[in-house]
Amino acid sequence: MRGDGVRVLIVGGGVAGLATVAALRGWGATIDVVERASGPTHSGTGIYLTGNATRMLDVLGLRESVADVAVEITRQRSANQRGRRLFDIDVAALWQGVGPCVSMPRAHLHRALLAGVGDTPIRWGRQPVALLAEGDRVAVEFDDDSTERYDLVLGADGVNSTVRRLAFDGQAARDLGQYAYRWVAPRVDDEPVWSVQLGRGRQFLTIPISAEQTYCYYNDGPVADRPGWRDELAATFTEPVATMLKALDYDDSTLHAGPNQEVVLDSWSRGPVLLIGDAAHATSPNMAQGAAMALEDAVVLASSLATADSVADALRGFEARRRPRANWVLSQTHRRDKATGLPPVLRDLVLRRLGEQMFRSNYGPLFAQP
Ligand SMILES: Cc1cc2nc3c(=O)[nH]c(=O)nc-3n(C[C@H](O)[C@H](O)[C@H](O)COP(=O)(O)OP(=O)(O)OC[C@H]3O[C@@H](n4cnc5c(N)ncnc54)[C@H](O)[C@@H]3O)c2cc1C
Repeated sequence: MRGDGVRVLIVGGGVAGLATVAALRGWGATIDVVERASGPTHSGTGIYLTGNATRMLDVLGLRESVADVAVEITRQRSANQRGRRLFDIDVAALWQGVGPCVSMPRAHLHRALLAGVGDTPIRWGRQPVALLAEGDRVAVEFDDDSTERYDLVLGADGVNSTVRRLAFDGQAARDLGQYAYRWVAPRVDDEPVWSVQLGRGRQFLTIPISAEQTYCYYNDGPVADRPGWRDELAATFTEPVATMLKALDYDDSTLHAGPNQEVVLDSWSRGPVLLIGDAAHATSPNMAQGAAMALEDAVVLASSLATADSVADALRGFEARRRPRANWVLSQTHRRDKATGLPPVLRDLVLRRLGEQMFRSNYGPLFAQP
């Protein structure tokens, strides 16, 4: 079907929302975007995109705009907490033919996605407060007391989605029992390597995200922000932990902290209201698949709408196509969390022997087109 005469509301101007605007360009629908934040984000930490994510940026015509600022990551290296190597993957070779693996400041990805939106208006500082079914349409009440009617409402508003709360009986995200700290520190070497140290129930990760910057990620067990976390981190892992932590003494403005959560739903739609991205299927970040899944959702949704006879058929087709992949990522993130949570001696033995094989099997099905 063509989108002429169809009114679409996208709630959330993050990865899924902005990529969907880009994917729907030329379809003919009238698209409104509302974003709770008051304007484009200039802050944040880093993001790592695997080959299936950059393949989608290519489809959306956005690869060039991130290529200027991105670091191409060639290897992913895993070590234990004493810095002893467990396994090391040539990810440039692994994802060959799919897309490069790249990292960058989150704000750069956001800027590139915003550039793909063209002249579609974004209403910043706005959010829905009520969704009311009216036959095939939805009446959406916003927090400025205005009400508009839409043929399709997309909840692209992240892991703690308001659309999900309003339209899906309040189904909430689940805490994974991990609390993550993220910050940006100066870059200390030239290697384009994603590098993790594994401790028991905790991990410390560094990724270069520009010529000058390294993105640091640390997660530990209790789901709470604890004052002693820096000392614990420094005591648990080897360099470059101490160096990376020192950066926070001078400037902690990039520090972000929060629980890792997942979302598991029986269905992603209620009538013409559809959840995409983290709102539908957030997982632990341990496979770095969140942005990739959001970008794939955008591209597959646009294709489902273009080839179906009605919005309802398109949403059914979308979910049938996306479910197996989202379920796969969910199951593999559980598998990874289980492996890294093993007692250290056993974990090291397993990962030295099987780490590379497990890594390849985690990602294998994602090489195919979504
Ligand atoms: C610690 C951590 C590290 C991660 N690292 C990576 C990584 O390296 N690589 C990767 O691919 N993924 C990573 N992810 C996951 C990734 O960030 C998400 O999967 C991805 O951002 C999902 O995109 P989204 O558009 O669904 O949600 P988001 O990017 O969260 O966007 C949601 C948008 O909706 C807006 N919004 C929220 N509520 C409302 C509302 N009520 N009304 C209007 N707007 C609203 C928000 O302001 C936001 O702009 C990580 C996640 C975590 C927690």
